[in-house]
Amino acid sequence: PSAAGQMSLSVFGATGSIGTSTLDLVDRAPDRYRLVAVTAQSSVDKLIEIALKFRPERAVIADDAHYATLADALAGTGIEAASGRAALIEAATMPADMVMAGITGAAGLEPALRAVQGGGRIGLANKECLVCAGSLFMAEVARAGARVLPVDSEHNAVFQVFDRENVGRIEKVILTASGGPFRTWTRAEMEQAKPSQALKHPNWSMGAKITIDSATLMNKGLEIIEAFHLFPLEAHQFEALIHPQSAIHGLVQYEDGSLLAQLGAPDMRTPIAHCLSWPERGTAPSARLDLAALATLTFEKPDFDRFPAFALALAALKRGEGAPTVLNAANEIAVHAFLAERIGFLDIAGTVEAALDAAEKRGLLKEPGSLEAALELDSETRALTRHIMAA
Ligand code: NAD
Ligand code: MG
Repeated sequence: PSAAGQMSLSVFGATGSIGTSTLDLVDRAPDRYRLVAVTAQSSVDKLIEIALKFRPERAVIADDAHYATLADALAGTGIEAASGRAALIEAATMPADMVMAGITGAAGLEPALRAVQGGGRIGLANKECLVCAGSLFMAEVARAGARVLPVDSEHNAVFQVFDRENVGRIEKVILTASGGPFRTWTRAEMEQAKPSQALKHPNWSMGAKITIDSATLMNKGLEIIEAFHLFPLEAHQFEALIHPQSAIHGLVQYEDGSLLAQLGAPDMRTPIAHCLSWPERGTAPSARLDLAALATLTFEKPDFDRFPAFALALAALKRGEGAPTVLNAANEIAVHAFLAERIGFLDIAGTVEAALDAAEKRGLLKEPGSLEAALELDSETRALTRHIMAA
């Protein structure tokens, strides 16, 4: 049990960028939090360091190969060590006031869904789980009476200015995008882009997968699908706007002409602090925006020709049913292949498009009506995509 006023918290993906930002906030107010579970895929040394510092009930390493290292380091501390995929998912059932879903990719779907089924509060950073299985995820949220608080900066911004009592008076939601490192590059230049160049995000410091997604603009496409599941509007009411300064994160336009926005420095500790304290306001050490120093905020329309991944995501949302699941799985495989220098930068979108076409031809794009169906379509698509890349 937690002391009065204390919040019990599990951090999934504790060793990643979101996990690190979350734990930084915990570290600044240690009396406010009691850690339940912390998890990682394979960064065992980092997980041990986190466990020894934050003293959670349990530390879980998904990759079994690291179990002995973890168990040895935690022996005698009173912190349980566990490993494997089943243990990871099981840890999401441990009672906690809030679960931070900071795993990257569709691998985060089952733990996040299990946390939702506990009926508590979920800080949702893992956007892929909504792209992979948004309808059934949100149905489960409603059934369990869970509360999803959007961590993704754009969605957190929209959440802050979204008037739920006047949804009928909302015209549209706009998510901003920095445009990534290739915002001004030609297609010919992008064709030659190396992982090291794509990994240099102009404004945000994040994990590798989302950083590549930001360079292709797939990230903004995934985020439009994420927003569609988080906010009760039609697909056509969500737009993206390139805004290289990343000062404004999201906007909501109302029928009276008001355009409400949330601004802040590009530091995930601000949206994370918002989620950790909601409905109250917390504190975060993020830099304060100096608008006079910024002086100019600029905006551009997204360019579908140079960023075909963005167009593919919008088409998948429009196509509906299994298309977003296929889009997400194919993209995860293609991004991985690009990072391993097995395909070129523009091949990421090319591969995703080919996977969507192949899935459509094989009749795979039916709505995944259950978790099992979504996971099955996800894994079928991964195999299909590897096959396409090998051809
Ligand atoms: P990251 O790569 O830095 O960290 C990922 C974490 O998940 C690590 O702890 C890793 O060990 C764990 N993990 C990875 N694969 C796993 C698997 N198969 N099983 C179990 N654990 C696994 O990623 P990140 O940048 O922190 O992003 C996490 C999620 O948050 C992503 O969905 C991303 O889109 C979203 N997000 C991140 C940011 C950001 O600023 N980093 C912003 C918005 C949204
Ligand atoms: Mg975002």
